[in-house]
Amino acid sequence: MIPETAAQVEPQAQVILSPEQNAEEQRWRQQLAQSLRTPKALLEQLQFDAQKIAEMSANDQGFGTLVPQAYANRMQPADPQDPLLLQVLPQADEGLSVPGFVTDPLAEAEFNPSPGVVHKYHGRALLVAAGHCAINCRYCFRRHYPYDEQQRSRSQWQASLAHLAEDMNLEEIILSGGDPLALTNNMLFALLDEIEALPQVQRLRIHSRLPVVLPARITSALCQRLASSRLQVVMVIHCNHAQEIDTDVEDACQQLQAAGVSLLNQSVLLDGINADSDSLIDLSKGLFNAGVLPYYLHLPDHVAGTQHFFVTREQGQKLHSKMQAQLPGYLVPRLVKEEPGMAHKTLII
Ligand code: SF4
Repeated sequence: MIPETAAQVEPQAQVILSPEQNAEEQRWRQQLAQSLRTPKALLEQLQFDAQKIAEMSANDQGFGTLVPQAYANRMQPADPQDPLLLQVLPQADEGLSVPGFVTDPLAEAEFNPSPGVVHKYHGRALLVAAGHCAINCRYCFRRHYPYDEQQRSRSQWQASLAHLAEDMNLEEIILSGGDPLALTNNMLFALLDEIEALPQVQRLRIHSRLPVVLPARITSALCQRLASSRLQVVMVIHCNHAQEIDTDVEDACQQLQAAGVSLLNQSVLLDGINADSDSLIDLSKGLFNAGVLPYYLHLPDHVAGTQHFFVTREQGQKLHSKMQAQLPGYLVPRLVKEEPGMAHKTLII
């Protein structure tokens, strides 16, 4: 899950950029390269004292620490309960083996007809476009996903796209990952070219946490490319707490909107982070201020190593009812759960 450098992936057709656009591209890639990669580095930056750093940094659980500076900058100094810190700091509990919490809770391996493709919904298919993210979220439902066995290069995508080309009912391709926006423009734009060449596909959906954790990724070159696509482009960002939204995130969302991209958000309900009605209400309001509609609020999956974040269905329903009582309907996300083998998400009412 550690980001590849451009040198580690095969060469792609070059995108011609203006000097200003080139500087923008260098900026986000440099920020990504300079991400914090150890608990100690993160905790030192947050000015914890030496004893706390020793106590809190001893828990790396085989899923590496990865935190962009732009995200760490929004954490409160020396606050061990900071809701952003808790999303990215490894905890000793991750090492516990708890019955019912498994490595592939959604049984994605069963719906993997070609490496890198998850094809379980009618009319839509998900392409694992990248084998890495810009951040490693401790609760991630794909933290055990075998990215190394899945495709990341252009030639390997072509095998996946050849599989998808045979499905004439396919109207929408979802780029997920890993995080598709963690790819370089050369890689991403080449993939978009190939998707646009599938005549039956009408919509492109990009699932990305980068507008939130590394807003510098939303460059003018990216926005121009999305604006010029023949496809309707939807971006589903991933934000769990209002503290994650700063002016840089708002600017990034505004640029995407100006490029004609429809913006939705999905959150995960996480104990200790956002599993209280005030946090969820503030999140919905903050998203709307940024031009993003709250879309899904997911109950957490039974992922091995994430049980300390778990929130029950009943707790989720109570919180959702409180949101409904205090917010207009368009600010209340749908409470959902993914269940293995289901042809759609399960709506929790
Ligand atoms: S950005 Fe998404 S896919 Fe990547 S680690 Fe976080 S939750 Fe998982």
